[in-house]
Amino acid sequence: MRKTPCQVVIVGGGISGLATAHALTEEGEKSQTAVQCTVVEREPRWGGKIQTHVTDNYLIEGGPDSFLTSKPWALELCRTLGLQDQLVSTNSQHNQTFSFCRGALRELPQGLLAFRPRRIDTLVSGGLLSWGGMLRMAAERFWPRRNPWLADESLGDFFRRRFGPEAFEYVIEPLVAGIYAGDADELSIESTFPRFRELEREHGSVIKGMRKALSDAPPALRSSGEATTMFMSLRGGLSELIRTLVEALRKRGVGLRAGLECLEIQSPNLESGEFHVLLDNGDRLPADAVVLATPTYQTARLLRVFQPETASLLDGIPYASTATISMAYPAESIGSQIRGFGFVVPRKEQRPLLAATWTSLKWPDRSRAGETLIRCYIGGRGRETVLEQDDNSLVECVRRELTSMVGITAIPTYTEIHRWRQGMPQYVLGHQDRLTKMQESLAHSPGLYVTGAGLYGIGIPDCIREGTKVGKQLLQDYAANHAIKNSGSTELR
Ligand SMILES: Cc1cc2nc3c(=O)[nH]c(=O)nc-3n(C[C@H](O)[C@H](O)[C@H](O)COP(=O)(O)OP(=O)(O)OC[C@H]3O[C@@H](n4cnc5c(N)ncnc54)[C@H](O)[C@@H]3O)c2cc1C
Repeated sequence: MRKTPCQVVIVGGGISGLATAHALTEEGEKSQTAVQCTVVEREPRWGGKIQTHVTDNYLIEGGPDSFLTSKPWALELCRTLGLQDQLVSTNSQHNQTFSFCRGALRELPQGLLAFRPRRIDTLVSGGLLSWGGMLRMAAERFWPRRNPWLADESLGDFFRRRFGPEAFEYVIEPLVAGIYAGDADELSIESTFPRFRELEREHGSVIKGMRKALSDAPPALRSSGEATTMFMSLRGGLSELIRTLVEALRKRGVGLRAGLECLEIQSPNLESGEFHVLLDNGDRLPADAVVLATPTYQTARLLRVFQPETASLLDGIPYASTATISMAYPAESIGSQIRGFGFVVPRKEQRPLLAATWTSLKWPDRSRAGETLIRCYIGGRGRETVLEQDDNSLVECVRRELTSMVGITAIPTYTEIHRWRQGMPQYVLGHQDRLTKMQESLAHSPGLYVTGAGLYGIGIPDCIREGTKVGKQLLQDYAANHAIKNSGSTELR
C-alpha cells in the first residue's frame, strides 16, 4: 500500500462526477492505491440534472426520467449498488409513441427506434406519411451508400439522404433531435448517432445493418429491442441512484462537500501535476489530480487562467435551454384522450412544445389514484424565446398546446416547472475535431481531466461510462507517474 495517498478533487456532483469518484475509489481499493478523494458541488444537493421531487401525491422527475438499457452502464451501476430490486420498466400496456403531425396525433410503429417496425404500412394508414414518403423510406435498403471517406455530416443531411425528406421530418427528426433538444441540421451524426453512420458504411444501408445486428443477437437481446424494455428507472425515481451512490462514496471515505462553488483551478507549475482548487469559502484544496465534471462552459471558466487553449475549445460547445412542466389533472377530465407514453412534435410543425409524456401511463404509481400526471417538454435550440416567460405564462402556453393538440381543457390541480438554462449540450458539426484538440491540449497538464455530458455522450449511461473511464485512467496515470518519479526520471506522462 502506498504511504502518501493520491489526492484527487472532483468538481461537479452530477452523475458524471459521482461515477468518476465511484470508479476511482473502487479501482484504488482493487489496486491497493491509497486515494483521498473529495467531490465539490456548488448546489446544496447532489445529482445535477437528476432531480426527483417526491410530494405526498406525486413523484416528479424534473430532469431525466429514465435511462436507456441498450447502453448497459447505468443498469450495471444500479446493480453494483444493490438497486436491482428497485429497477422499474416502463408500462408494457401503453408502449406506443405518437407524433403530432398535420393537426393530429399519429402513431409511430412499434420497434421504429430499432428500425424494425412491425407494421411500416401504419405510417401511411395512420396519416404520418404519404405513400410516396413511405416508399422512399423503405427504399433506404437500396439507396447508394455515401463515400465513407467524406467528412462528417449533419443529422438532417444523413437521415434525409437515407430515408427521404418526409420520413425525416415527421418520423425521425422528432425522435432523434428531440433527445438533444437540438436542431438536426446543426448536430453531427458522427458525434450523436455514430452507429447509424457505421451501419451505412458496413452494410450499405441502415435498415439492412439493423436487421443483421438483431438477427445475429442472442434471443434475450433480441427481445430487449422492444420499446417496453428500452428504458428503465428506479421505483423512487432516478435520485434514488444518486442517494445510494453518495452513500456508497461516504462509506468509502470520500469527502463530500456540497454547497461550495469552485472558483478556479491553479497550478503553480503546469508540468508538475500539482494543483490547488479554490473554493468560494476561501478554502484552497491541494490535489495531485483534478477532474472537472461540470458543464463545458463552466469547465472553460475554471481553466481560463492556466489552460486558455482548452478553455476556448470548451467554450465553443453550444448548449440549448429547455424546461419541463409537470401537470396533474383529475383523470376523468382527461378521459380516453391520451394513449401510449406520449408524443413528440416535429420541428416542422413550428410549435413551442417539443414533446409530452403521459407519466401516469408510462410509470404507474407516480401519481395518486384518480389523477393523471403529464410532463411537457418545451424550448430547445432555436426555440428558446418561449422560456423568457414567467412561470404562469409558461404553464398557460403549455396548456394552450395541450388544448389544441389533444383537446385537454381542464385546469391542472398541480403544476411543477423545472427550467434548464443551458442544460443540453449540442454536439454540432466539428465536435469530434474539437474533442481531439482538447485532448491534445490537456496532455500538457498531467493530472488534469475533464468529463461530463458536454463531451462524449449526454445520456446517463454515457456519463457513467465516461466518468468510470476517467476514474480508472487517472489512477493508472498516477501509478505510472509515481513509478517514473521513484525511478528517478523527471518525465511525468
Ligand atoms: C430536461 C432533461 C431531460 C433529460 N432526460 C434524460 C433521460 O431521460 N435520460 C437520460 O439518460 N438523460 C437525460 N438527460 C440528460 C442527462 O440527464 C444529463 O446529460 C446528465 O444528467 C448530466 O450529468 P453531468 O454530471 O454530466 O452534468 P450535471 O448533471 O449538469 O452536473 C454537473 C454538476 O456540476 C455542478 N457545478 C457546476 N459548476 C460548478 C462549480 N464551479 N463548482 C462546483 N460545482 C459546479 C453543477 O451544480 C452540477 O451539479 C436529460 C437532461 C435534461 C436537462
